[in-house]
Order: sequence, then C-alpha cells, then structure tokens
Amino acid sequence: MLKAQKVRLYPNKEQQKIISSQIGGVRYVYNRALALRKFAYSKFGLKIGKFALINHITKLKKREKTSWLKEIDSQAIQQSIGNMDRAYQHFFKGGGYPKFKSRHHSKQSYQYPQRVKIEGNNLFLPKVGWVKCKGLRKEFVGKIKTVTVSYEAYQYHASILVDIKEKERVSSHNSKAVGIDVGVSLVVADSNGRKVKPLDLVKELSKLRTKAQQLSRKKKGSKNRAKAKMRLAKINLKIANKRKDFLHKLSKQYSENQTVVVEDLKIKNMTKATKGTVEKPSKNASAKRALNRVITQQSWGLFFELLEYKLRGRGGQLIKVDPKFTSQTCNECGHISKENRKSQDKFVCTSCGHSANADINASKNILARGIHGNNASLKIAV
Ligand SMILES: [Zn+2]
Repeated sequence: MLKAQKVRLYPNKEQQKIISSQIGGVRYVYNRALALRKFAYSKFGLKIGKFALINHITKLKKREKTSWLKEIDSQAIQQSIGNMDRAYQHFFKGGGYPKFKSRHHSKQSYQYPQRVKIEGNNLFLPKVGWVKCKGLRKEFVGKIKTVTVSYEAYQYHASILVDIKEKERVSSHNSKAVGIDVGVSLVVADSNGRKVKPLDLVKELSKLRTKAQQLSRKKKGSKNRAKAKMRLAKINLKIANKRKDFLHKLSKQYSENQTVVVEDLKIKNMTKATKGTVEKPSKNASAKRALNRVITQQSWGLFFELLEYKLRGRGGQLIKVDPKFTSQTCNECGHISKENRKSQDKFVCTSCGHSANADINASKNILARGIHGNNASLKIAV
C-alpha cells in the first residue's frame, strides 16, 4: 500500500537556485516532448511513444544549444515524459487534451522516481544535495516510490510517497457503519447523530480581504506591490492548508468505521439555493457564492478521496449513493415530500410527525441506501 507525506523544505540560496533550474528544465522537457508528439501526430499521423521521446531528449543533451539539459536530473526528465505519456493515456480514455506547462502557474514542481534518501531531518535530493526539512514523521517508513519537490507561495515542499508492506498495515475489522451528509458549506452531519462544527476561517478570511485591499493600492511594478503579493499568497496558502488539515482529521475519524456511506457528488446538485432567500443577491455576492460553492465541492471531493484511501488501508469501504430525495425522505416512515423540510435544519414529517435535525435525518437515509441499495428509502414511498 502507498502512503504519502508532505514536508516543508528549507533549501539554502544555492540549493534554491538548483531546484529552480530543475523545475524549469523538467518543464522544458515536458513541453518539448508534448510539442513533438503533437506535431508528429497532426502532420504524419504518427504516435511517438515514451521511449522514443526519452531518446530524443538524450540526443538534445549532445547538441550545444541544449547541452544545459545535462544539468537536469535524468530520472526526473524520464518521470516528466512518463507523466506526459500518462496525460495522453488519460486523453485517449476521454479525458482532456494534455496542456503545455506554464512558468506562470502558481505551483511549480518536479519529481524524483527514486534515489532520495532520508536521514534524521534531512532529505537527500539528487543534484541538490542534503536539504533540511520539517515535519517528517518517524513512523513513516517504507520503500520510497517518488518524491515530488514543489515551489508555491514562496515555500518549498516535498511530497514523499512510500510503499508500506502489507503486514505493516493496521487492520481494524468491525461492523461499524455510518452515513454522512455533507453540506453546501463545510459542515457534516452523520447517522450517529453527530454534527461536526464547521471549520472556522473568519480570522483568515478577514485578513485575506485586508491583504487584497492593500495589494490593490500598491503601484504596479513597485517593490511594495511584490511584497503585498507575497503576503497575499501566504495567507491564501494558509487557508488552503487549514482546510486540508480539517479534511485530513475528519477523514481519519470516519475511517475508524468498517463502512462509510456518502452521497455521490457527481449526481448531487450543490447549486440549490438556500431556502428563504428573498433578496436578489448582487452580482458580486453571487459570484462570491459561486466561488465558495466550487471550493466546497472540491473540498468534499478531496474529503471522500482521503476517506476512501484511509478506509482501504484499514480494510474498510466507502460507498457512494444517489442522493436524490435523501433530504426530503422521512427516515421513520419513508414518506417523501418537500413539505417535510420545514426549514434549513428542521425536518418534520407531514405523514407520521417524526421530527429531527434535517441533516441527520438525511444522513440516516444515506446510510440506509448504502446498506440496502440505492432505492431502499424509496420503497415505502407514497
Ligand atoms: Zn414519517
């Protein structure tokens, strides 16, 4: 089984330069290989495979103009072409067409397939040398599969992927099952009657607003503008990290179960408006809400991914069900009606009078569907 860990890197000035040239070199190789492949296909209908592309790059190293490629880690180059090849495989299966990598993308990275060593709080990166790092867990042992070095918001990180032997896995077999209802904001309710407090980002978001305003007041091209930009990037990263941390903890808690049932987000329509909105929101406010919705949806996508990964590691399973009517169905008698939903959080059945928190009622329906099949709570419908 594969396990991943992300650590912060503290390269010195010289190492920063080398990392930056590795990133640039790998990006160059990726784009060059992609361009060649595209050209060969559009002009001659030829498919150029991974190994032919790697050979081509080896030839480029011998040309004077591109001899600087010798400075780039050769396995990182191969990895990059491998990634491009995978992007193509994905495209052939109906995914999007592989894109060129831009140096202006906010996150820059390159990957080592192996040869990275760990000693104490230091990582050995080929071409770069020993780099100090922070956040390595001692119990994180296994064969290193890949190490991805990234640069984002003026910080360096390494994502380390290791292969843990089967027998080292923790298995916790039990019959615990739970249904989870996720909301349009970052809130969770489950079939055990638990409501998780939403992540509090008020402080960070207000800071974000201030920093964004400060940035807008700075003169274009000025040093102060660059500084303000850096501060804004840092706070953005902090928010993203806090959100990820929250989802990691939450998924860890729920992975203690044998079975977790959630809504299939591909089916769920998260765009439904909040009840009781009378005022028409301004353009700005509705754009903001739309952005929030996208972030929330992405967060839940990540949450389910993390959860599934952690559950599998312990021998458990994640089941996704059709969320249709789960919020309008009475968990006591199965009666479905819009009228059952008295308000955003109050559920009162118009047939049997059962009353409950709306999200918890929904999570119980989700659990029932996961265990008895997708139409379980619809069988006794009106
Ligand atoms: Zn009822």
